[in-house]
Amino acid sequence: MREKGGVIMEMSKVMKCEVDDCAYNMDSCCHTIAITIGDSALPRCDTFCQSTIKGGDAGSMAGVGACKVSACMYNTNLECQSPEVDVGYNENEPNCLTFEMA
Ligand code: SF4
Ligand code: SF4
Repeated sequence: MREKGGVIMEMSKVMKCEVDDCAYNMDSCCHTIAITIGDSALPRCDTFCQSTIKGGDAGSMAGVGACKVSACMYNTNLECQSPEVDVGYNENEPNCLTFEMA
């Protein structure tokens, strides 16, 4: 939960991530605290980390800390307003699969 301009915002949850070669992925879930989505145009998971070691906290479920894809219908002021998102591969890129053009 975060406060912005006096308004309490719930962080969007990463419900599922199919990118199993990412360091933060365990059992099709993301276990870092928060991810960042996007360069300005594409909904790529910017937190993706290809590694043989595993990171994150097995007991936590990630949220979307920031999203730079202003063209998405769920994006307001570069924050994700969707209650939850899914992440997975799209044409070999780890992308937010909840992205929809506004
Ligand atoms: S959401 Fe991003 S950081 Fe988290 S496991 Fe998937 S690709 Fe990795
Ligand atoms: S649903 Fe849209 S606003 Fe939310 S993280 Fe994905 S691309 Fe960004």
